[in-house]
Amino acid sequence: MPLTVKRPARCSWRTLLPWAVGAIPLACGLVVINWQIERELRMASQTTTQQVVGYVDHILDNLGNAAQALLPLAGSPCADAQFALRKEVTGNAFVRSTNLFQHNALYCSSLFGEIEEPVKANDYTDGRLWLMDGNSVTPGHPLLVYRAHEGDRGVISTVDGDHLLTALRLIAPEASLQLQVGPVWMGSEGVVQSGPPPTAAVAASSAASTHYPFSVHGGYSAGKPAAVLREQYPELLGLLLVLGVVAGLACRWQLRRASSSRAELQRALAANEFVPYFQPVVRAGDCGWAGAEVLMRWNHPREGLVRPDLFIPYAEHSGQIVPMTRALMLHTAQSLAPYAALLEDDFHIAINITADHCRDLSLLDDCRTFLQHFPPSRVRLTLELTERKLIEATPVTLELFDKLHEMGVMIALDDFGTGQSSLNYLRQFKVDYLKIDQSFVAMIGGDALSQHILDSIIELSGKLGLGIVAEGVENETQRDYLAGQGVDFLQGYLFARPMPAAEFLRALAARPGAARLPQDGAPEIMRG
Ligand code: C2E
Ligand code: CA
Ligand code: CA
Repeated sequence: MPLTVKRPARCSWRTLLPWAVGAIPLACGLVVINWQIERELRMASQTTTQQVVGYVDHILDNLGNAAQALLPLAGSPCADAQFALRKEVTGNAFVRSTNLFQHNALYCSSLFGEIEEPVKANDYTDGRLWLMDGNSVTPGHPLLVYRAHEGDRGVISTVDGDHLLTALRLIAPEASLQLQVGPVWMGSEGVVQSGPPPTAAVAASSAASTHYPFSVHGGYSAGKPAAVLREQYPELLGLLLVLGVVAGLACRWQLRRASSSRAELQRALAANEFVPYFQPVVRAGDCGWAGAEVLMRWNHPREGLVRPDLFIPYAEHSGQIVPMTRALMLHTAQSLAPYAALLEDDFHIAINITADHCRDLSLLDDCRTFLQHFPPSRVRLTLELTERKLIEATPVTLELFDKLHEMGVMIALDDFGTGQSSLNYLRQFKVDYLKIDQSFVAMIGGDALSQHILDSIIELSGKLGLGIVAEGVENETQRDYLAGQGVDFLQGYLFARPMPAAEFLRALAARPGAARLPQDGAPEIMRG
């Protein structure tokens, strides 16, 4: 196949596009998974902080209960209260010590008995809770102190910081958690620090106790989502990678196919490999040559002569048909012009044109250049339009067709009756000829309905005052029938097959009464 010849790949957007296309499923998948992971982490973080709050609440309930039980004893002599103080320490799992105070001074302790230490209500958040970084018994070891009072007498109960660390470390080992009490906080490393606790990079959340003046802050480090992705979604990650690779490869394959075809057409155009073949169009009356249709052939260096249906559809699709047609028109003019004397006046030369060529006025220049090769009124240029690609009736196309007519160029509707917009075209554009498609001609002698369709097309063109050309005439029955129906021009294998320029010119020169050429002897192109 001519359109599969490989060309070296160039580094351009074509090289980058497959990577981009491959990245799309991966990127989309990662966005969705990431969103899901963040949602999961947010929920986990909220649950964790609430669990820690619940656990610390439970500890403080123990402390609170002990304090409430001892509160009636506050102000009593230490010797009377000491047993009760120790009983609360022993009976409550979380209570490390209990103490009584009066007039801002601690006077009785479960550990030391009588003691004298100042108690400052200001040290306690809400007057109730104090997170200390250590005391005289365990310096540098955190402890949480609970204060209950009635007037200037009250109870202080403490819990060891290790109980708090258990909550911060064990409830969610992979989360980073901080317990904040007023202006100080403590993380899972067990150091009490002042100032606001750090905000977690991912899924930061906070929960405050509704019973005691403390809050818990949690969240995860920046690398957590990636770690979850690796641990929990390895199969999905693999699937996304495979999808990305498949999409990238498919895109690369498509691009290679398209770019190699495009490049191959481009190369062929530069090498002037698209050549005109000529198929005569005869008058129905005397079968004399009234003109010829120019049919493109690809003179491929390796594949030989390539039929147009193998490359024209792709050239139309890729937009390369316009320069190809322009080159074909030039090639045709240059082949025929030196032998213009062989053509009778008003010799019709039909060129197939696609919709892309009608989008701007450049076709006017192409036709003008073509006609300038010939003596005035020697050739009559006809443009054959098909419905393969729709021509839109824009102001530009309407102006184009007007100007073409002013220039004497004629318009023929090719393959008439095969598409859906044949009648629309007739309404919108000023058409001079209808070319009856060969499928209708082939119906001649067939069933009555088919024949009826053909007759209707001929009748329609007569009513619209259009010239009519029947293509694909292969036998005398078809010829005679069409001539009998008043069809003006016929084209088909019965009269001649499409032929190269040299053969066409030789055939023209061989016709009886053909004009003599100005040069002596057969010119170069006709010697073939
Ligand atoms: P088309 O414009 O309808 O051209 C007529 C086709 O019918 C030609 O095929 C011709 O060789 C073929 N043909 C002529 N007489 C007979 C016959 O008696 N029997 C049969 N069975 N076929 C006959 P070809 O040359 O292969 O061209 C095929 C199509 O390619 C053309 O159909 C036209 O649509 C397109 N094409 C050819 N050259 C050009 C061109 O320069 N530009 C554009 N845009 N399209 C072209
Ligand atoms: Ca045609
Ligand atoms: Ca046709």
